[in-house]
Amino acid sequence: MSTLRFKALAELPFRNYRKDNAVDVPKKLSELFCENVFSEETMRNYLTKEAFTSIQDAIKRGTKTPRNIADQIAVSMKDWALSKGATHYTHWFQPLTGTTAEKHDSFFTPFESDRAIERFNGSMLIQQEPDASSFPNGGIRNTFEARGYTAWDPTSPAFIIGTTLCIPSIFISYTGETLDYKTPLLRALQAVDVAATEVCKAYFDKNVTKVTATLGWEQEYFLIDTALYQSRPDLVFTGRTLLGHAPAKGQQLDDHYFGSIPTRVMNFMKELEIECMKLGIPVTTRHNEVAPNQFELAPMFEETNVAVDHNSLLMDIMARVAHKHHFHILFHEKPFKGVNGSGKHNNWSLATDTGENLLSPGKNPKKNLQFLTFFVNSLKAVSEYSDLLRASIASANNDHRLGANEAPPAIISAFIGSQLYGVLEELEKVTDGKLSPEEKTELKLNVVGKIPEILLDNTDRNRTSPFAFTGNKFEFRAVGSSANCAEPMTVLNAIVAKQLKTFKSEVDQLIDNKNLKKDEAIFNILREYIKECKHIMFEGDGYSEDWAIEAKKRGLNNLRTTPEALKQELDPRFIALYEELGIYNHREFEARNEIKLEKYATVIDIEAKVLSDIARNHIIPAALNYQNRLIDNVKGLKEIFKDEEFQVLANEQMELIREISKNVSQIKTGVDELLEAKERARSMNAGQQQAEIYCNEVKPKFDRIREASDALEMMVDDELWPMTKYRELLFTR
Ligand code: ADP
Ligand code: MG
Repeated sequence: MSTLRFKALAELPFRNYRKDNAVDVPKKLSELFCENVFSEETMRNYLTKEAFTSIQDAIKRGTKTPRNIADQIAVSMKDWALSKGATHYTHWFQPLTGTTAEKHDSFFTPFESDRAIERFNGSMLIQQEPDASSFPNGGIRNTFEARGYTAWDPTSPAFIIGTTLCIPSIFISYTGETLDYKTPLLRALQAVDVAATEVCKAYFDKNVTKVTATLGWEQEYFLIDTALYQSRPDLVFTGRTLLGHAPAKGQQLDDHYFGSIPTRVMNFMKELEIECMKLGIPVTTRHNEVAPNQFELAPMFEETNVAVDHNSLLMDIMARVAHKHHFHILFHEKPFKGVNGSGKHNNWSLATDTGENLLSPGKNPKKNLQFLTFFVNSLKAVSEYSDLLRASIASANNDHRLGANEAPPAIISAFIGSQLYGVLEELEKVTDGKLSPEEKTELKLNVVGKIPEILLDNTDRNRTSPFAFTGNKFEFRAVGSSANCAEPMTVLNAIVAKQLKTFKSEVDQLIDNKNLKKDEAIFNILREYIKECKHIMFEGDGYSEDWAIEAKKRGLNNLRTTPEALKQELDPRFIALYEELGIYNHREFEARNEIKLEKYATVIDIEAKVLSDIARNHIIPAALNYQNRLIDNVKGLKEIFKDEEFQVLANEQMELIREISKNVSQIKTGVDELLEAKERARSMNAGQQQAEIYCNEVKPKFDRIREASDALEMMVDDELWPMTKYRELLFTR
């Protein structure tokens, strides 16, 4: 092993001189945009007018594409793909494994004995049948039909990677259960569209016919040299370092953040941006992040379904481009202990087809009341369903990050800025029932009317809040960097949809039964909502211990671990919400909960195994090897020197020999205990209880092993140490 470490290190100086590193941007980036996408523009060129209108209706209104039109679209899509050199097509989908999946089929179809054509028709476009049995399905497989099919999602454009035409698709079982991330997301987006459109139409603007949820994600990641990556079995098998002493120079100086980007990384970024442009992913910003070798990338926001697809696609592309530049990309939420982890901030808002952002105030009182309505309803939704939101971002990896003073705590709260908070406090004082003309004027001019000014000067930011209002959108900052954005976005849009439905019916009731005017009824309901959700609003430091104490007083849950968070997820209220909105039935939802628990257990199980192996097979032998050298040295000294002098000269070495033995034995017993606990957990049935055992009895046993190993790292001769060190992983470029 130590030779692997040194071989890897020896390769590094040559990395920057490789010719294939340099990247030239061939044309203006804007000219590359959507080059490999079956975009609206391409469709206009390739489709008949009839087919073009039909697919645009499918995209914008969710109408079904008739079969004969699907045939036409398929033929045009194939012609376009062949013109780009494609030979195969695949339904591209997002099963619950967390990565993307594809099964390639060739366009090539032989006929007669010696002739062939490229064939692709409507039914091939609409449906494909991968074998569902090896994707996680949380027991649905056992109860229902094993096989599933993928079906074309026309609302996300097809694209070409290499020589394959990729068709974004949903993945469902033959009995109709959803087996992927996209299907529930599409349903949640539909639900929020319907609910928000109704609210807009009834109270603010009857011209609104569609509301789109928008998402702009920010993706954080680490880049590690491939050779160094390969030298660390823990990184290879678990995505994070299970051992490793902190480097002398960490991120204390904050000199990496927004510093200049290293040349080699810049080449990677340039090539990545070219690939993103071709695929229509509108990336616009890149910079260094807080930790050494950590970076971030963000696009222009898009419609949520497309943005989610683009994020999944991007993660795939990033890994490939990184390899070309001899980097391995780490999306793990916490690859290095003591170094900031990575997140994926999800910026979210709602936009109307009349071109308005519903979370942005407008020029007149009506628009401002519209803003307030959507703003307060979003807060109310988060307060009602905070545990569901927490569960949507729960994973073994994200547990390392949430609440570790670098990411929001596991307590769901909302930050809105002190000035907006002041506005809400004013609104709490609104009279119950009918409002006097004076009160209405006062509200319009001095309370609601002030909002645009407040937001113009919205410099108030709080990076410690999981859910922060940032002027014209909310930023859900607790999402993990390796997560698929679909799940948190499904939850957020679903709970807002449900909340807007409730709001509409409550306002209508006041109008009908209490004879209130629209705006009076709205003010009355909003006042109550503000009172009911004030407990989740928090403007202070989310990292502080005081907040955990304060949150407890307010009755907010602090679900620190995945099993705790997932236990809350099966609340009948949440199942009722999903069933009411038609997003999941209870079987599907329970299955997903089961999959997440099982995944959690598997992650910890693998980590336990890898840690035990490394500790026993790499760390202990290295320590004993060095200890033997010390023993030889001591023996030698004893031969040469007289007793008294020997005692003085050998004192340090003897102390080290004892220390090494102490740590070796701590590792040995630590590993024995870990493996014993792991076996006990493993033999249990998968589910809540098993996940809890992994969390509370297996995982804590990692610490003693790591502590002893990290201590040995400081004692053993560097030349004998088998594991590539943090300073080498993090500070070489
Ligand atoms: P910062 O938060 O660093 O000040 P910005 O406010 O420009 O940066 O936006 C950060 C992210 O928010 C970007 O990815 C951007 O696309 C996204 N964003 C901006 N407006 C919206 C919106 N209306 N809906 C969803 N995301 C948005
Ligand atoms: Mg941000």
